[in-house]
Amino acid sequence: MHRTLAGDLSRFPELLQCARDFAAGEVAGLDERQVVRPDKAPGPEGLPVGGAGAEGALARFAERWAPGFSGSAGPRYLGFVTGGATPAAVAGDWLTSAYDQNVSGAVGSWAAALEHETVGWLRELFGLGEAHSGAFVTGATVSNTVGLAIAREWLGERLGVDVSRDGVAELGPVDVLSGSPHSSVAKALSVLGIGRNRLRPVALRDGNREAVDVTALDEALTALDGRPAIVVANAGTVNTVDFDDLRAIAALKERHDFWLHVDAAFGAFAALSPTHARLVDGLDAADSVCVDLHKWLNVPYDAAVQFTRRRDLQTAVFHNASPYLGLPTGEPDFLHLTPENSRRLRALPAWFSLMAYGRDGHREIVERNVALARGLGERIDARPELELLAPVRLNVVCFTLADGPSQGRVDALARAVADSGETFLTPTVYRGTPALRAAFSNWRTSAGDTERVLDALVASVRVV
Ligand SMILES: *Cc1c(COP(=O)(O)O)cnc(C)c1O
Repeated sequence: MHRTLAGDLSRFPELLQCARDFAAGEVAGLDERQVVRPDKAPGPEGLPVGGAGAEGALARFAERWAPGFSGSAGPRYLGFVTGGATPAAVAGDWLTSAYDQNVSGAVGSWAAALEHETVGWLRELFGLGEAHSGAFVTGATVSNTVGLAIAREWLGERLGVDVSRDGVAELGPVDVLSGSPHSSVAKALSVLGIGRNRLRPVALRDGNREAVDVTALDEALTALDGRPAIVVANAGTVNTVDFDDLRAIAALKERHDFWLHVDAAFGAFAALSPTHARLVDGLDAADSVCVDLHKWLNVPYDAAVQFTRRRDLQTAVFHNASPYLGLPTGEPDFLHLTPENSRRLRALPAWFSLMAYGRDGHREIVERNVALARGLGERIDARPELELLAPVRLNVVCFTLADGPSQGRVDALARAVADSGETFLTPTVYRGTPALRAAFSNWRTSAGDTERVLDALVASVRVV
């Protein structure tokens, strides 16, 4: 063994303690850390030859890179939809690395059974029934991709084509209908050989809504003349967190032949709050469901879950049969269910957080975030220089400058807010209007943080 490596082996517990002490300091400073670092990162250095040992590596990291890392795990990073990591989730994540299990299959370890238990808990959390099975993937983009891959296989079943063997070309053009799909849906269609242009926008409901008009969807399906299609329903849009009427869409199945995929990346968490659970009524009727976990469950990157009612079609797409791996039988191993073959035990941080805080603890996070978003929305609405663009339906505040919100001024505002170091908001375009979004999904965010966000925002408006 290399001398430095042997030295680290003999001091493994001390090294973990050093990493722990360093991480504890960083976490303690999170609240005051500059939320984003707008300045440029240093250029790359050469490959180390001799090696500094783990403690040397930590020292070098602390000096050269750590100061430039963002405070995205902290309470005032409101860009995109960015959760943090609960204390229990971080502990679970560290143990994932320490055990370094390969959860491609169930042989020789109980790790796969732990993933099954965790998927079962999540299924219950989001109100899905036993007919849905699931697996962990790296994010909602991959979860959407897996769901749509199963949908593609289902189209083959309907049209008498074996897509996984004979290829997507045999299907002919595929119709994918959706109201306000996330950009990752188009990416998934590109990956799957269906094509980004096959995503057909369906009219939205009247009255400042991002939810699909179910009558228009009904008409679009009728126009397909019996050709089976894929419908992507959206439960939680990124601009205004609008929800398609999942029950009404599912009811269209009585008259039309389609696969229903629901992108509930963060909207699924509405199910945790009795006040908001009706927003995801009908989720269980979906054929496949996407939920992100590194957003509102507040586990570290990268984790999401995908659910489907058709595991048989899923294994048709993803099975990885070879003499040494065997053919999937009975309960298929995870390597036959998702794009990955070797897999990290990314269920463990979720297991830890659910074990530590339970449904009630996670419900409190969701409800607090919603209340804070509403509060910020009211404060913004009351400011003459700002304009709320949509009611705060759940956890995102979508707003703009009251007078002349040009793209240039809104971008300048986003930059000024980021430069303040106090918070981070991401720009968007809502119904043709350049706008900003403040998305609440961090477990630490408090009313005091909302005050600081508003102060930073108002100060930034003055300089643009
Ligand atoms: C965030 C998000 C995605 C993509 O999630 P990643 O985890 O970044 O891949 C997809 N759909 C919706 C609705 C989202 O909010």
